[in-house]
Amino acid sequence: MRVHGRVRTGLDFRSILTNVMAMAETTLPNTADAGLEVRTQFVRNRNALLARADFGEMFVDYYLHLSANQIKVAPEHDAMFKRAIAAFTLHCASRPWKEMTAWTINFQQPLVNLFLTGDNETGAITGRVFDENVKVGPENLFYADVVRGREPKRRSAVTFTGSDPLAAAEKFYTQSEQRGARFFQLGEEEFALVSEHPDCDLPWFAALTADEVKTLEPKETLALMERRIYRWHCGCNQERMMEVLAPTMKADPEGLFAGDPKVEIRCPRCGARHAITREALEAFVAGAKER
Ligand SMILES: [Zn+2]
Repeated sequence: MRVHGRVRTGLDFRSILTNVMAMAETTLPNTADAGLEVRTQFVRNRNALLARADFGEMFVDYYLHLSANQIKVAPEHDAMFKRAIAAFTLHCASRPWKEMTAWTINFQQPLVNLFLTGDNETGAITGRVFDENVKVGPENLFYADVVRGREPKRRSAVTFTGSDPLAAAEKFYTQSEQRGARFFQLGEEEFALVSEHPDCDLPWFAALTADEVKTLEPKETLALMERRIYRWHCGCNQERMMEVLAPTMKADPEGLFAGDPKVEIRCPRCGARHAITREALEAFVAGAKER
């Protein structure tokens, strides 16, 4: 079996960005698995929202996914990606239920793209590190795509400096959400997000430190807003991968399979490996024509 170059080219980063939001997961997260609880609390009188969670369990699930799919991530990229998972999940937990979000964070130094996507309705969070064919540009770029209910996708893009996903997300809030957000690492795997709400006590907000966020209670009055459960989960399957391959199959089946009975494709959302046989893909494409 071969991982075909043409397939990878067909799935360049640009096409991934346009496809993934439409490609919702088809299998739901396993609710028997406890998942990661994110608690959101409103800080009374300061008018800010605190979201915090310990990401230990989610990082374990992410590593299990990497090893199950033989995905190797450079240690430097891995450290960045874990911070991005934390920032992204805390952001999702601070947003309305009916939202699907994707972040693509392009760093120039080191040259890497981090992709994350999450669905608040199912609590599924997934993503991957792209370190091949990353576009060289003058600045780091942060893209956020949001689909709310049946509304069309909204995209915003901001530039940022440095190599920390938490700082990138803070810049995104200031520029695109037009309100402040501060991300803090509270422990080895524990992170928090404090975001401004109307009439926020801005001097207090600006002066916050990780130590203070850790011990907001009992100094401040915190009102529990929600407890949400998130799980590392993509939900990709053979059929989804065949949808991704169908245009290439229609255009150039010989180029795609090059005489092999099957081809390996990596899920554009999570990097999982799927083997697709030519027979199955031919049947899928023929079926699609009939529909
Ligand atoms: Zn996947």
